[in-house]
Amino acid sequence: MSDQDQGRDPSRVIQLIMTLRRQGITDGKVLGAIERTPRELFVENAFEGQAYENNALPIECGQTISQPYVVAFMTMKLEVTDRMKVLEVGTGSGYQAAVLARLCRRLYTIERYRTLLKEAQKRFDKLGLTNVTAKVGDGTKGWPEQAPFDRIILTAAAPSMPENIIAQLKTGGIAIIPIDVPAADGGGQLLVKITKTDAGYEREDLLPVRFVPMVEGVAREL
Ligand code: SAH
Repeated sequence: MSDQDQGRDPSRVIQLIMTLRRQGITDGKVLGAIERTPRELFVENAFEGQAYENNALPIECGQTISQPYVVAFMTMKLEVTDRMKVLEVGTGSGYQAAVLARLCRRLYTIERYRTLLKEAQKRFDKLGLTNVTAKVGDGTKGWPEQAPFDRIILTAAAPSMPENIIAQLKTGGIAIIPIDVPAADGGGQLLVKITKTDAGYEREDLLPVRFVPMVEGVAREL
């Protein structure tokens, strides 16, 4: 079997789903959305054969498509339903957006690289995902024109708590955010769950992660 065929082998999809289940992804709707999203469409040709391995992979512009486990975990923690308006910062390949789009009413996604956004948009079109609105922009500002959101997910690490983005959540809304841990506290990054309350927000620390950094401004390169 060639690498390309392996990427589309349905048994590899089932194997990935079983692995995710073993790793504690118990939400059937999340697993279903992953099962119906062909990850080989979102990786470069050279990596198609590895599309269903549980690993992050490089994409254009020096960025990465997240590990399926991390996508599944973040999606599960986001507790999305089909009435919700969701914001993603960091479109990248568009894979996380495509998974979320199958679970929510409308998905807004922002990317600072035009090249990545264009490729991701083609994939949304190819999959017939008509409930995705994608734009090139600076996600450190959120998407004020479309706020408030029921859910917000950052797929690039914030240097500190992004209060301005959290302000774009509805009360009771949830944000899932990878955030830098100060060097004095051991460094690295932590995935946190933010629940917006009337008074402010609650924070729950979930697990250590490794994302590319969230960088201010639209990329000057393509
Ligand atoms: N969700 C992606 C993973 C993307 S990696 C996927 O499923 O493939 C993180 C992405 O965030 C990168 O593409 C990076 O360019 C983008 N990014 C970083 N800072 C950003 C910012 N300020 N605004 C928008 N996108 C940003």
